[in-house]
Parts: sequence; C-alpha cells; structure tokens
Amino acid sequence: MVTQGDSSQEHERRHLLDVADLDWSALRQLLVSAESMQRLLDSTAGGSDDLRGVGVTTLFYEPSTRTRISFETAAAALGARVSTFNVATSSVGKGESLLDTVRTLEALRTAVIVLRHERAGAPWFAARHFGGSIINAGDGWHAHPTQALLDLSVLSRHLGDRDGSLVGRRIAIVGDLLHSRVVRSNLHTLTTAGADVLLTGPARLITGFAELAQSIRGARGGVRVVTSLDEALDDVDAVMALRIQRERLAAGELDSLEAYRSAWGLTAARLAALAPRALVLHPGPMNEGVEIDPDVADGPRSLVLEQVRAGIPMRMAVLHQVVRGARAHG
Ligand code: ASP
Repeated sequence: MVTQGDSSQEHERRHLLDVADLDWSALRQLLVSAESMQRLLDSTAGGSDDLRGVGVTTLFYEPSTRTRISFETAAAALGARVSTFNVATSSVGKGESLLDTVRTLEALRTAVIVLRHERAGAPWFAARHFGGSIINAGDGWHAHPTQALLDLSVLSRHLGDRDGSLVGRRIAIVGDLLHSRVVRSNLHTLTTAGADVLLTGPARLITGFAELAQSIRGARGGVRVVTSLDEALDDVDAVMALRIQRERLAAGELDSLEAYRSAWGLTAARLAALAPRALVLHPGPMNEGVEIDPDVADGPRSLVLEQVRAGIPMRMAVLHQVVRGARAHG
C-alpha cells in the first residue's frame, strides 16, 4: 500500500492533458487517491455521490474498449451523469469540427470531456475552447496519460517500496514504440517513479527513441534504448509488450508478423529465461500470437487483467481531481 506520507500537498488541476509535467508528489497523490477509490469500489456502497450532477462525456474519435468503458464505469461509480458521444452516428459525419462539438457539449452541460483523438495535441486545442475539464484519453502517437497512471499503480503495487516508488527496478518495454502513445507516457511516469526503463524493438519501430531517452532529464530513473531483446530482458523486474499497431504501420516498417513473433514476441520459451520474479504486462488490445503468446498472456506472471481492473479506480481518481480543480479555479 502506498502511504500518504508528509508531502500530501494538494495538486489541483482542471485538466489532465499529459503526464510529462507530473512530478513524483503529483503521481503519488494519484496513487493514494486510486487506492482509496478502490476501497470505495470494494465497500458495500460500491461508489459515492461525489460527482453527483456532474456531466461527463466520453468523446472518442478512435476505437476503444478498455479506456472508454472504464472511464464511464469510473464516472458512474462517483455518481456523475455519463454520456457517450457516438462519433460514428453524430453530426461529425456531417462535417462538425472538434471545436463545434466541444462548444456544443458545453452548452449541453458537460463538465468533463474525456477525449480520444487521432491527432496529437487535440486535447490541448479542446482545452483552450472548453469551460470545463478535458481529460486526454489518447492523442495520436503522443500521450495516453491514464494508461501510464494505471500501469504505474499496478507496478507500484507489485514492485514499489513503501511510498510506491520504483527506485532500482528494471522495466523493459518491447515492440512497436514508434506508434505508441503508451510508451511515450510510461517513460515519464516510470522514470519519475525511479525505475530504470529499457526500450527495445525492431530498428524501424524504435526510431527517434534514443533522442527521446536523452531528453528525459531530471527524473530519478533512467532510460536506455538497447537493440537486443536478451539485453533488455536481462534481470528485469517486469516486461511490457506493446501492440503491433497494424493500422498505423507504413509500408516496410515490419517484414512479417511471423518474423516479428520469432524475434520479439513474448513466448513461453523466452519467459522461461527471465528471472523468476519477472512480471508481464500489456496495455491491450493484444495481438495474441504476435507480440505475446496466449499462454503467456494468461499465465501466472501476467498482470494484463489487473491492468484493466486498475483503470477504474485510477480514472475515478483523475475525474475527482479535475472536477475539484475546476471548482477551485472557478
Ligand atoms: N489501448 C492503447 C491505446 O489506445 C494501446 C493500443 O491501442 O495498442 O493507445
């Protein structure tokens, strides 16, 4: 359990756009809050009325299962008025812009928009034109703040020290880094929590990450890009496989899925070579038999479903924080 400690300084923020600007104290506050949200979910009441009457709308321009449903479950557990904006059947098909949609939702008394968009930066644009709170639920290849936060909560529960930090822990992230907003956000949260992160994958899918690793400064942990899976997995505490994002791959970026699996896939044979304590994560959705084998995904080291479950209390914590932040900012 993450203890509150002395530095329980309140972080009030009206939006959650990125995790790159969250320091350890801000991350810790969210970890602590997510734990109390979990206790609320486990209680007989199963939730609270804290966001009663608050309109929360999920506005997803890209597909999603876990993220959208867990935000909606989280908002409902706090008593919010939840709406799903269905982009496919909405006026977006008639050419309505993001700006018009955001203004319309505000007029319809939405206080929080949970936004997923294919364009990096879209949540910042929305935040400039919306009187309520914007939560970034994934923007292009850029960021996926709540995925990184829930991953941190799971890793911190299993590997964290008393205050939840990951100092001295080695975490490998393997696969299609190039197209992954998950890895870009996880780099910040994991290094801020003190972990040493090893990044690896096929050369064409790790382009630019050596430079990115250099730019992560001031964090307690470090980032290293390595070109061999064996080096990345040596003595790791946890490994996260990333999805091969077939919908974003350009010609020539991947030879074949079979070749990928044999060079980079988390197979039972590869797992057998890991330290016995090493844990396995995947943000989902998984291409089973490509980046991760089914028996590994369902195996005893796998935290995949725990990651999905952890999304609800963490998103409750985030919703709570932004609504409080909006109230504080008037
Ligand atoms: N669900 C995650 C995302 O939206 C990971 C993925 O799609 O591969 O970025």
